[in-house]
Amino acid sequence: MNQAMEAALNEQINLELSSAYTYLAMAAYCESINLPGTAHWLQVQAKEELEHAMKIYEHVNDRGGRVVLKAIPEPVQDYASPVAVFEAVLAHEQKVTESIHKLYALAVAEKDYASLPLLHWFIEEQVEEEKSADEVLQKFRMAGESKSALLFLDSKLGKRDEE
Ligand code: FE
Repeated sequence: MNQAMEAALNEQINLELSSAYTYLAMAAYCESINLPGTAHWLQVQAKEELEHAMKIYEHVNDRGGRVVLKAIPEPVQDYASPVAVFEAVLAHEQKVTESIHKLYALAVAEKDYASLPLLHWFIEEQVEEEKSADEVLQKFRMAGESKSALLFLDSKLGKRDEE
């Protein structure tokens, strides 16, 4: 496959795996502050990111490219609050969206039309990712310092289905 695209898709595999690692570290932080439901939500999110990485992995292989796995940076381990966690989730997803949009522009520039359906899927997925991160962020902001609101929200987040 096109070399520039192959390199950019490998970078995206790394970003998706880094996302999984970041969300798993956020889950561990939430466990440490007794928010197991929120930790569950983040674990489901981490698994989704692994699936995203695998989608691209398969696409590169299917196209005769070579998957090359790079180092995953150590994630941030500590946060000031659940609000800070979800501000970071939203900021991270916005960064991923930007990266997907750049990949799309590159695929068009390189006339790599076979990558476009995959990238369309990711463009739509990012709309959902940003929406759900923002929803949870707004709920934690609303809950503020209220222990009962935080417990209620945590148990709600604990019911997120494995997708
Ligand atoms: Fe992703």
